[in-house]
Amino acid sequence: MNTDTRLVFPYEDVPKNGTMLEIENNVRWIRMPLPMSLNHINLWLIGELNQSTLIDTGMYYEDVKNAWNDILGESDIKLENIIVTHMHPDHIGMAGWLSRHFQIPLSMSRGEYYQCRVLASDTGDRVPEEAINFYKNAGLTDNQIDAYVKRFGFFGSMISTLPDSYKRLKNGDSISFANTDWSIIDGYGHSPEHICLYSNEKKLLIAGDQLLPTITSNVGVFPTEPYANPLEDWLDSCKKLKDIVSEDALVLPSHGRPFLGAHKRLDAIINHHETALTKLHNLLAEPMRSVDTFEVLFKREIDDTNLLMATGESLAHLNCLIERGLAKKYFKKNVAYYEQV
Ligand SMILES: [Zn+2]
Repeated sequence: MNTDTRLVFPYEDVPKNGTMLEIENNVRWIRMPLPMSLNHINLWLIGELNQSTLIDTGMYYEDVKNAWNDILGESDIKLENIIVTHMHPDHIGMAGWLSRHFQIPLSMSRGEYYQCRVLASDTGDRVPEEAINFYKNAGLTDNQIDAYVKRFGFFGSMISTLPDSYKRLKNGDSISFANTDWSIIDGYGHSPEHICLYSNEKKLLIAGDQLLPTITSNVGVFPTEPYANPLEDWLDSCKKLKDIVSEDALVLPSHGRPFLGAHKRLDAIINHHETALTKLHNLLAEPMRSVDTFEVLFKREIDDTNLLMATGESLAHLNCLIERGLAKKYFKKNVAYYEQV
């Protein structure tokens, strides 16, 4: 293999779940467990321990609460800022808990803050008819829809109650902590208004889920916005990141290990989706439902645990083809079929 195409992972050691490792002066890598096949998330603690900024917080459940209690008990950490990159529970779960513990505000983008509050308020609520129709249209069976209805509202149980106010961060802002200026770069497609933090001076990118070294982030269509085209947003965001971030910047991702080679990885991600779009377009020579497209889109087996994610991702690619004028959709008995044009 041509070594030029490979990413460089400069750190041998990886912190165990629930522990912290200083990888550069005043840059600490914290790993927290996740109760799923993706079994960890990385959090970043920047600055002197007693006046530090935490980026992302871990999912709200017993193991992570215990780990945070241990870390706070064993070290002199005092947080001055809590920033979350986006509203997924592994990132925002402990934000409310930590912001109350340290009596400091939570900083995040407006899109993520409000989306998170809406999703959390769905907990215990009825399942909207729109959501059931959305998955029926995609071709899910009655049993699969029943399983979805049973799990509906799970989101709220994975996050500690959010503070009722927050500090807004938005694209282009420059904020300062740990004697460093950081620019805020927004990204779309994985979540409503994801933010990355970038220091051009330190050549450091805190990437959240916007740039991961080995897995690709979920880019999906959800029932609240069935006509969305998150994949084009995602591709645009990858290109934007490539324009702003230097190739020799150290990327601190939310999953996997810190790496060098931002541009190589962004190119690979863009190629991955463009190749999927081409394969999908070829497949649609015959009309297909969303659920019929999994085989060309995913290497892994699709089962009940990842069905909704796969459906959302398949619809993201299908909607993108429609928006590019390469496919059309029609309905037969409430089920959507897609065909090449
Ligand atoms: Zn995420």
